[in-house]
Amino acid sequence: MTRPLSAKAISLTGCTLTPGLIDAHSHLLLHPYNEATWDDQVSREPLGERISRATVHARLNLFSGFTTMRDLGTEGADLADLGIQSAIEKGVIPGPRLLVTTRAIVATGSYAPRSFAPEWRIPQGADEADGEKLRQVVRKQIRAGANWIKVYADTPHGQGPGAKPAFTLEELKLVVATAADAGVLVSAHAQSQEGMRRAALAGVASIEHGDAGDIEVFRLMVEKKVWYCPTLATGEAYARYGGWKKGTPPTPALVSKKQSFQAALDSGVNIANGSDIGVFPHGQGWQELEMLVKYGMTPLQAMQAATQSAARMLRLDKEIGQVKAGWTADLAAFEGNPTQDISAVRKVRLVIKAGEIVKGP
Ligand SMILES: [Zn+2]
Repeated sequence: MTRPLSAKAISLTGCTLTPGLIDAHSHLLLHPYNEATWDDQVSREPLGERISRATVHARLNLFSGFTTMRDLGTEGADLADLGIQSAIEKGVIPGPRLLVTTRAIVATGSYAPRSFAPEWRIPQGADEADGEKLRQVVRKQIRAGANWIKVYADTPHGQGPGAKPAFTLEELKLVVATAADAGVLVSAHAQSQEGMRRAALAGVASIEHGDAGDIEVFRLMVEKKVWYCPTLATGEAYARYGGWKKGTPPTPALVSKKQSFQAALDSGVNIANGSDIGVFPHGQGWQELEMLVKYGMTPLQAMQAATQSAARMLRLDKEIGQVKAGWTADLAAFEGNPTQDISAVRKVRLVIKAGEIVKGP
């Protein structure tokens, strides 16, 4: 093969070249909850601080090999993701190619911050809407620039522990149909079986978390062609913040998450790498890939979930997700071979985004 005279040769002995990695569930505007609780970040950190932090997070993620991220909600930071996205696109700050959702949509009374005096009207971490008003909220978010719509199909509201459905099936269908008219896909947060079931029946494109998912609901997702983002590393982070230590017996929540992920694998549901990064440190997206392998994927499957598969889910598979002539040159190189030993993704030696070297040997 001949190489143009102007081309630069980079020697990467002992490294493996891969497509740039994709994390399809991030929160650039959040930082780990052991540094500050979600409530404190949303209600006590000034917007300027949150955006400043997000610019640092964007750089950390890009430099760790993640060239594309789908950011699933600003969590109280209004439309700040749109500004971060444009700052990256204009080359003002380094960061991954971003797909953004703006504020995300929740049912009235189902989200947070909560626990204030009932007379207090506390601003919520997402856009509250119900029934017919959902149409307007979806349209406003799309008009603002949302690339995807994020909806919370269930949350831990009402009486008793655990996530419960937040929207009716009809409401979720209205969200999906309104977004579809504008060519926009919907991602649903759903942890309970009923939340997942309604989201799948409503026609969302991806379901996030799916913690209580069983074989039946994952099969429904297969039938309805719904993608799954498991967010495994976040489950482990929550356990750590609750006092659990690595190397000790898993908590009941970790045991059930592992069983649920096994059911997802058994069902054959399409899995895209999505970690919920922000709950755990930015720049450590490798945590999710290691967890995918720890919970049953082969290293090759985990790498595919973070490249080709995630690109398919994002409908960007004709542009990114493969090392291929004609595709956008989003590339990463890791010391060792992550398709054989996934821990190699910790050792990034080269990152190229859209043909530009952002981190080199
Ligand atoms: Zn999330």
